[in-house]
This record gives sequence, C-alpha cells and structure tokens, in this order.
Amino acid sequence: MTDGPATRTAVVVGAGLAGLATAVAAADRGIAVTVLEKGDLAGGAASFSGGQVWVAANHLEAAQGIQDDLRAAEEYVRAVGASHPELIDDDALARWLTEAPRAARYFEDAGAVTWEIIPDYPDYYQDAPGSRATGRYLTAAYDARRLGAWRDRLRVSPHFPVGTTYAEILGAGLRASAFGASSSSSPPPEDRLTFGTGVVAGFLVAALERGVEILLEHTAIELCLDGGRVTGVVAETPDGARRILDGAVVIATSGYDWDDDLAHDFLGLKPADRGSVAPRTLTGDGIRLARQAGGAVVEIPANRVPVQVGYPVGGYPGFQVAREHSLPHTFVVDRTGKRFCDDAVYWEIVKKTLEPGSEHLPCFMIWDTRHHQRYGLGPTPPGGTYPPEVVSSASSLRELGTALGIDGGELEATAARFNDHVAHGSDPEFGRGTNTTWQRFQGDPTQQPHPNLGPVDQPPFFGMRLTMVSTGIGLTGIAVDPDGQVLTAGGTPVAGLHAAGAAAAFTSSGTAYNSGFSLSRAITLGLLVAEQL
Ligand SMILES: Cc1cc2nc3c(=O)[nH]c(=O)nc-3n(C[C@H](O)[C@H](O)[C@H](O)COP(=O)(O)OP(=O)(O)OC[C@H]3O[C@@H](n4cnc5c(N)ncnc54)[C@H](O)[C@@H]3O)c2cc1C
Repeated sequence: MTDGPATRTAVVVGAGLAGLATAVAAADRGIAVTVLEKGDLAGGAASFSGGQVWVAANHLEAAQGIQDDLRAAEEYVRAVGASHPELIDDDALARWLTEAPRAARYFEDAGAVTWEIIPDYPDYYQDAPGSRATGRYLTAAYDARRLGAWRDRLRVSPHFPVGTTYAEILGAGLRASAFGASSSSSPPPEDRLTFGTGVVAGFLVAALERGVEILLEHTAIELCLDGGRVTGVVAETPDGARRILDGAVVIATSGYDWDDDLAHDFLGLKPADRGSVAPRTLTGDGIRLARQAGGAVVEIPANRVPVQVGYPVGGYPGFQVAREHSLPHTFVVDRTGKRFCDDAVYWEIVKKTLEPGSEHLPCFMIWDTRHHQRYGLGPTPPGGTYPPEVVSSASSLRELGTALGIDGGELEATAARFNDHVAHGSDPEFGRGTNTTWQRFQGDPTQQPHPNLGPVDQPPFFGMRLTMVSTGIGLTGIAVDPDGQVLTAGGTPVAGLHAAGAAAAFTSSGTAYNSGFSLSRAITLGLLVAEQL
C-alpha cells in the first residue's frame, strides 16, 4: 500500500478576523491549519472594534429590497480616494468589491456569523457619488456560551458597550458619539457579544470546530526559507522555546500601531504625539517577516491613514478615541491658538496635522463649562472631575492658553470669531458641521440651531492636548496581489507567503477610507488567500 497524498499544512500568523477567516476557509479545503497568536487572548483589533463590516451589494440588502450595486460602490471608493487615484490598484479594487459579498455569504453559510445590517447607518461621505444611506454596514451578535472554554481567551472590547446592539442604541435615539457603557439604559444580556467582539467570536468557534489549532502566546519571529520559497515560521512560545511550524504562511498580523520606528517611518509621528486604541501586540511584525523574504511594502500617505484623535486613559490599551470634539461648545486649535480645519470630523484634523511640513502638531481640544456639564469626556461623566494629568482648566481662555502652552491672546480671538459664527448656525471659516453623517451621528440632536455647533464662552474653560491614536488600520502594509499573494518590489510573487487583513497594504482602496473597509477586507482576503493555499 502506498501512502496517500500528504496533508497540506498552513500557518496563519495572527488570530484576529483575517487570520480566523483564513483558517476557517482553509480548513474547509482540507488544509491542516495552525494559527499563531502573539497575545494571551485571541481576537486582535477586530475584537476591540465597532464590528462594522462594509460590504456593498450584500445579500441582506438584496433580501430587504435595499438598492445597491457594485458600480455605485466603485464610484464611491474612487471618489473618496480621489486625492491619490494612482494608489488604487484597479484589479485589487474590483476583486475586493466583487468578492466581499461572496465572502460575507460564504462565512454565513459556514456558520461563522449571522449578519445583520446596521439600521439606517450611512456611508461616511453622503455627498460622494455612489454613496448609500443604509445597507452596506454588516455586523453580528454572538452567544458567548458557544465559546465554551475560549470565552476567557477572547478579547472583549473596552471601547464599545459589548452586549448592546447598534439597533438598540440608534433605535433609542442615542447618537453614535454616546457609545459607551453609559449609553445603555438597562444592562445588556450577559451572554450576548456584539460589536467587533461579537463578529470575531463566531469565526473563532468556527475555526475551533474545524480542528484548527490556535496557539496563544506564540509569536512568529522569523520565516523559514528554502530556495526563495517560504516553508514555515519560527515562533517564540510561552516557555521561551523556539518552535518551527511547517507550511505555507499567511501573515495576518494587522497594523504597526505600537512600533515606534514603523509609526515614525509611515506616519511621521513621535511617541509623544501618538498612541493606539488597538491591542499592544500590533507591532508591525508582519512587515518585518515579509521583508525577510523579499516582500515589499506599499506606503499610503500618512495624512490619509484613518488615525483618530484621542487621549490617554487608564487600563488596557491605554488610549481612548475622543468623540467629544464633534459635539457643540468645543473647537480644536494648534499652538498658535488658531483653528485649522473642520474640527468636528477626526479625519479632517488628521489630514491637516499629518500632511508633510504641517505645523499643526501638537493640537488641542478646547471647550467650555456647558460641554463639561452636558457631555463629559470618555469615562468622566457629565459634570465629573477630569483627570488633571489629561485635562487643564482655567477661568479664562487666556489663562488656559498659558497652561497648555498656546498663544492665549490668539485663543481668545479664535473663540470670539467662532462664537460669532456659530450663533448663526454655521462655520464659514472651516465648515464645521457640514458632514451630514457627522451631524446625525456624532452631534447633539438637542442642540439648536446645529448639532455640532455651540459657542465656547462660559467659564471655566478646559483644554487637552490631542493624541493621534491608531486603530489597527495602517493602510501602509505588505505588497500583495488582489488575492493576497505577497509580492516583491518588482511585483513577483514570494512563493509560499500570503497576507490578509490590515497587514496587507490597502491597495484596493488607496487613500479612501470609510469605516468597515478594514473588516471587509479581512474576511475577503481571508477567503481569497485560503483559496490559493
Ligand atoms: C476601537 C476600534 C474600532 C474599530 N472599528 C472598526 C470597524 O467598525 N470596522 C472596521 O472595518 N475596522 C474597525 N477597526 C479596525 C479593525 O479592527 C482592524 O483594522 C482589523 O481588526 C484588522 O484585522 P486583522 O485581522 O488584519 O488584524 P487584527 O484583528 O488586529 O488581528 C491581528 C492579530 O495578529 C496578532 N499578531 C501580531 N503580530 C504577531 C506575531 N508576530 N505572531 C503572532 N501573532 C501576531 C495580534 O496580536 C492580533 O491578535 C477598529 C479598530 C479599533 C481599535
């Protein structure tokens, strides 16, 4: 009797959404998969995320009679990425848009997820051609009991009220900016996982059910190469030993959020100006691994990367996104005391502060007592005491300027101009409040005459230096073809090496970013890579 064909093996590096999706689809194809996870918990940034998965022309839209099509989706992505059309790889864009609905369907049929449309949640740029007012954002809830022993080995998001659904929050008339434990009126069901945690949980269970081996605290540190072909990885294990795992390698290690050198190279940011709301295990390891084998990196300009603005908080991972700058009674200035952009919208702040030669860093959020009394700041409830190491206060804007190292006289002049304009419900200088999605979901619906505008004129005044916080979406990443095959700088494939999710450069959308693109690519590239193994 002769031996049957040897079982094909694959090593997936990273147990976030892309890694788990790849593992599920590869196991479905009879491949023996081992997933290495650097952290002591599975889930990656995906588990911390909002769980918004942007899939145009998806099967739920069709079932619910929501009109959408791939041509409109392409028009939308190209319009949002119009600043650098040359950075969109036409084939990769077409492949992502076409395959994302198939991937969404595939993983639902595989039992990894039961999708729901986030109701009435619009594309970010409603004025862009091809945008849709609802239908493209998928998300999912999951019953935590199905995780069994893995329930304690899955990251749970500290950033969203896991257990509560978008439908409940938005249906109750709460604005998106109110996401947080305080936004749910009654405690959510204990066993229901939602947001990114809910999406990832089902993929984790589906992988385990297929016999995928998931090794926590296993860090891939080196690729094994044989004549230019990648044949496996070397991993560091909890007992300090090194272990070699054989097979084709899929890099699903996400962004470079917590690596000082890569963040400096790709974002131009010094450690004092940046942080991340993603797990601290995101250190760009995939980029280093790919480079070992001759893989190239595609860079996307720093000021188009969807970095957000935030501030340090206690606990893991140590930073929080600031949503409060979109609310009334606040604006953002640089050291000169002057505003410089539509400061209700985070990407407008980032575009200006991270553009080459920008002098807008550091920048500061400034607000007055009405903002304090009505909205609070992250874990600080309305009217509560702000952490003094983060927030400065003063009885006048001039004094506040001195405390923050800002030109106080100019700050007063800025506030006077701003207050004059917002009294009439507009911001002719910078167009604050003109993004209709932000008006609806990040403003205060009770504020008249405009949900994002209110004067900053009542003492005491408050201010804090904003930190640029990454979210596991670096855009810059490993060069791949439309199917996730890693490429050299010359465009030739690195045999045996693939990349999925945020580790792979976002060449399918270039500088365009809309919430949900990253998780959409994670499941799509996961499926496409598995089909190549
Ligand atoms: C607060 C927040 C909200 C977000 N909301 C959304 C949203 O709603 N929609 C959206 O599309 N995106 C969102 N994002 C971004 C999104 O979560 C990430 O871009 C996405 O998770 C990337 O998926 P991934 O599978 O590639 O990586 P991840 O989910 O980050 O997983 C990567 C995994 O690789 C592991 N790893 C790293 N290096 C190694 C190594 N050397 N060896 C072994 N393992 C390693 C990491 O520990 C991690 O577990 C959000 C992010 C955050 C932080």
